[in-house]
This record gives sequence, C-alpha cells and structure tokens, in this order.
Amino acid sequence: MRRALFPGTFDPITEGHLDIIRRALKIFDEVVVAVAPAHHKQALFTLEERKELVEASLAGMPGVRVVDFEGLMVDLADRLNVDAVLRGLRFVSDFEYEFQLALMNRQLNRRLETVFMMPSAKYSFLNATIVREVAQLGGDISTLVPPVVAERLRARFSGAS
Ligand code: ADP
Repeated sequence: MRRALFPGTFDPITEGHLDIIRRALKIFDEVVVAVAPAHHKQALFTLEERKELVEASLAGMPGVRVVDFEGLMVDLADRLNVDAVLRGLRFVSDFEYEFQLALMNRQLNRRLETVFMMPSAKYSFLNATIVREVAQLGGDISTLVPPVVAERLRARFSGAS
C-alpha cells in the first residue's frame, strides 16, 4: 500500500490541485489531502470551509482521504505513515520555495521523501490567489475550479455567504 500526503492551504481547491491528485493516484494507492491552517497567508475561507470544499470536490473519487491539521506537516506524515509528500510544480518560480521546503522537511524527518508532479499545461498558470481575484471581479472561473467551488465563490463575492 503506497500512500502519499498532499498538503496545502487549498484556498480554495482548484482544477490544478485536482490534476495533481489524479496523476498521483496512478502511482499511489491512497492520496491523503491535508488542509493546513493559512498562517502565512490571509485566507478567504476558514480551515473548515476549505476542508469542506476539498471534500465536496473529491466526492466519489476512490483512493482519496481528506484531513486537516495543525503543526508540522512532517509530524502528520509520520502519524499517517505515508511514503511520500506530494507537491505540485508549475513554473521555475515554484522551484526555489519548493526546493527549500523539501530540504527543510528532510532535515526534520530524514525518512520522508518529497515527490513533485507537473500539472497539465492548461493548469500551469493557475493558483488559488488568481482564482480568488478573478472571482472577486466577476470573471468566469468555471473551467478553473470544481463547480461546487465556483458556486461558493460566487456566493461569497455577491455577499450571500
Ligand atoms: P501552499 O500554501 O502549501 O502552497 P497551495 O494550496 O497553494 O498551498 O498549494 C498546495 C500544493 O499544490 C503546492 O504544492 C502547489 O505547488 C500545488 N499547486 C497549486 N496550484 C497548482 C496548479 N495549478 N498545478 C499544479 N500544482 C498546483
């Protein structure tokens, strides 16, 4: 049983994240999506909302589990007994931060390996910040996020939630 941990803030989950999860399921038997508190960012959605949107977006996808966590990702990885941490790489600009993070995580837990996967080129420009900005300005984000997320963003920016 090969298990990967896919940590992130998912504020909100996008088609880019889903693309990485689908690819990972070709290699791993289980992908545990771990929703983190947004300490380093100003989040649009609460941890609970972000987790709920991840769950709704992944409903019915076999081999996927969703958790939320506090504290160090490497401790969660230990607790869940995962074989690898999964991260997405879009551009060279992601590389520097991801490289630092992977080596810091290795420093914290030498048994843990990080696996990087590239999304389809059509999602390589996509990040949650840009989705939030476009949605706030009333742009069409329906091809960039799962329908449940598009709906929630519309509601949020129309003042309904
Ligand atoms: P974090 O705050 O940990 O970066 P994110 O939710 O922004 O949380 O990202 C979680 C992971 O998903 C990261 O590895 C990030 O590189 C990856 N990711 C985000 N958007 C995309 C995308 N469009 N394509 C591929 N990977 C992505």
